[in-house]
Amino acid sequence: MSHPQITIIGAGAAGLVAAIELERAGYRPLLLEAADRIGGRLKTDQVEDFLLDRGFQVLLTEYPEVKRYLDLKALNINTFRPGGRVHTRQLNFRFADPLREPAQIIRSTLSPIGTLSDKIKLARLGLKLRAYSAEDCFSKSYKEQPTIDYLWALGFSEQIVERFFRPFFGGIFLEQELRTPAALFRFIFKMFGHGGAALPAEGIEAIAKQLAGQLKQTEIRCSTPVASVAGSVVTLADGTEVASPGGIIIACPPEKLLPQIKGTPVTWKSTTNLYFYSSRRLKENRLINLVSDPTSLINTYAVLDEVSPSYKLKGQGGSLISVTLREAITRDIQIGQAEQDLLRHSGLGNDSLRFLHRYDVKQALPDHQHVSYAYDPSHSRLADRIFLAGDHQLNGSLDAAMRSGRLAALGLLNY
Ligand SMILES: Cc1cc2nc3c(=O)[nH]c(=O)nc-3n(C[C@H](O)[C@H](O)[C@H](O)COP(=O)(O)OP(=O)(O)OC[C@H]3O[C@@H](n4cnc5c(N)ncnc54)[C@H](O)[C@@H]3O)c2cc1C
Repeated sequence: MSHPQITIIGAGAAGLVAAIELERAGYRPLLLEAADRIGGRLKTDQVEDFLLDRGFQVLLTEYPEVKRYLDLKALNINTFRPGGRVHTRQLNFRFADPLREPAQIIRSTLSPIGTLSDKIKLARLGLKLRAYSAEDCFSKSYKEQPTIDYLWALGFSEQIVERFFRPFFGGIFLEQELRTPAALFRFIFKMFGHGGAALPAEGIEAIAKQLAGQLKQTEIRCSTPVASVAGSVVTLADGTEVASPGGIIIACPPEKLLPQIKGTPVTWKSTTNLYFYSSRRLKENRLINLVSDPTSLINTYAVLDEVSPSYKLKGQGGSLISVTLREAITRDIQIGQAEQDLLRHSGLGNDSLRFLHRYDVKQALPDHQHVSYAYDPSHSRLADRIFLAGDHQLNGSLDAAMRSGRLAALGLLNY
């Protein structure tokens, strides 16, 4: 007997994982995607002879859902080196993670990233979180406490907050105040402590492609925006009605599809990411560069082809540099300013740098005041046989997007 039709709206990581789970249960879901290709926020473009991810994004290899659904070997991942390089107005120094690279303990002890007491606290925090489960990281008292308050409560100095935590986690959370709940900080810190930050050889979109490659019974329709959902009927923007008696998973922000939905709509954090090509090779040892300089527009930058050489499609010389700005910018004039800042921090010569591309990602990460790791699958039920998925349901991470897709599918299957 064939299963009733289930429709999934949105072919980002959440929708794709939901489809994988439904297929495993014997369904042949219909996956509707507004954009011209799958992937959602996991997108990579070819610009000239380079692979450019839409926004600087890394794959944390220890994410539980990554281990569940992705074949990292087949993704041919390349990892960043643990630690990083800090650029202040006066200083430029490398710091190491002694827990990941014990041979670097002297470098780590001597680095001016913070006081000796900061370094001891950092190592203790790393060891403590290593012993915790992911769920422990999200325990109740940390789901709303801002990260910055958590760091002050742990006794970290202003020096290490400004030189390390603010640029590093500001770059991950896409906000400089570090108001993102400490639970997510604890989880991400734990993930960095256990595993690597990686780039798939074919770019970040390869993650979505690998998820989609696992689908054998799902019909994927791109360039098919959904206008509304009512009962068991999905109405497309062109007016076509799609009957979905088996249920609906909304794996995108639901407000526009269901105007009657209660609660506050998802709010988003934005980011601007610039790409430059330098004809001179910039050697950064596969480290992420953190900029702790209030006069600079830049928050972080990285030489991508050092980590993943295939980002330079023709193996050409020079370096591909991805720059994430502290704040999303609104005026083109600021690109020139960012370029000057990059020259200053990197020490590259004026004539070696060429601007390649700019990405403004308006809806980059959900702006949560409260985050979660997981929930009972029935929790994401909105109405009869309508379930919600997407990172905005839990926390702003790939892990959360994938988990929400799995839980929504399980909710529907057990309904
Ligand atoms: C710049 C940037 C950096 C990031 N860095 C990291 C990182 O380092 N580590 C990490 O873990 N996470 C990171 N993330 C977050 C991660 O990419 C997301 O959490 C994840 O990709 C979200 O997947 P999703 O399926 O929930 O949503 P999305 O990927 O947004 O998918 C939703 C899909 O629904 C579609 N859709 C919307 N409306 C409709 C409609 N009406 N009809 C049909 N389809 C519709 C959209 O087109 C989209 O394809 C980053 C994100 C960005 C943008």
